[in-house]
Amino acid sequence: MSDKDNLEKFVSKNGFDLCVLCKFVTEYKTEVNIESREYYIDGVGQLCNTCYSTAEETLFEQNFIKKYLDNFF
Ligand SMILES: [Zn+2]
Repeated sequence: MSDKDNLEKFVSKNGFDLCVLCKFVTEYKTEVNIESREYYIDGVGQLCNTCYSTAEETLFEQNFIKKYLDNFF
């Protein structure tokens, strides 16, 4: 398996998904349904606890700014 494959799939050698931001090995095996996971963001992927907290704040801010702009214009 090439480095490129590892990068695209974000899976550890023993089958656990990696955090798409920091590549931390998460507790979820690849075959675990995303609906039964925590810290999974649609269209982004599996995150670790730490990155999820950060991403949630960022997404919240972006949504807030977008709503603000939508209302403004
Ligand atoms: Zn992470």
